[in-house]
Amino acid sequence: MKIYILTDLEGVGGVVNRTQVSAGSAAYEKACDRLTLEVNAAVEGAVAAGADEILVVDGHGSNSAVNMIYEKLHPAASYVQGVPWTIYPQDLDDTYDAIFQIGAHAMAGTKGAVLEHTMSSEHWVEMRINGKPMGEVGLIAACAGAYEVPFVMVSGCDKACAEARAIVPEVECAVVKYGISRHCARLLPHPVVLDIIREKACQAVKKAHIVQPFKVDGPVSIEIDYLRNDMVDMIKERQGVEKIGPRTVRFTGKDIIQAYARVRGA
Ligand SMILES: [Zn+2]
Repeated sequence: MKIYILTDLEGVGGVVNRTQVSAGSAAYEKACDRLTLEVNAAVEGAVAAGADEILVVDGHGSNSAVNMIYEKLHPAASYVQGVPWTIYPQDLDDTYDAIFQIGAHAMAGTKGAVLEHTMSSEHWVEMRINGKPMGEVGLIAACAGAYEVPFVMVSGCDKACAEARAIVPEVECAVVKYGISRHCARLLPHPVVLDIIREKACQAVKKAHIVQPFKVDGPVSIEIDYLRNDMVDMIKERQGVEKIGPRTVRFTGKDIIQAYARVRGA
């Protein structure tokens, strides 16, 4: 069994504010430590269920996507850190049997969700895939689905987990905190969080063969509402890239991979 794990930092246990997810503070260092422990718990759970090849990709943008602590990483996986990526998500392909997201957050605008945003809290207001509002959870699940890889596990706040379940009802959800507002949550102690993640990862690998990949029918359109019109002004119209409003750009492709490559400017 070959497992792909994409990480983020906003959905890690005990993380509730921007200082904790922005490089350069003691609070950030602690959050990175917890992220590393949560990744290790997911790797342990996956290995216990028979995974024999695991790739973990560091997906949080702060510190140029070097957030997991290298010296402390579990020896049963290999890891990608740093930017830029050549594809999104980096190194994902059809050889994987399942994908997890660890430390995920809900889409921009989700009520009560901890650190909710979609890609950029400074630039993006809403993303719609084939007309349906989606966040990073949905985007990743759809990209994996394009490679026939089922999205089987997520960890994060209860709102991020609900978003995942709405897309893939069978996804195993490790709720690590309960969002009260954007910067406030009811927390579970970290040893409890690690136990939940280990257990859910194990269950997820065991059931991966019965979870359907999340497929988005092509051709795919991704519409993004940006915060301000100057952000749209900077984008060049070209094949598959069309400005449809003062703040909105539509990116299209034969599938989600090509459409999102156009969002990234590739
Ligand atoms: Zn992040």
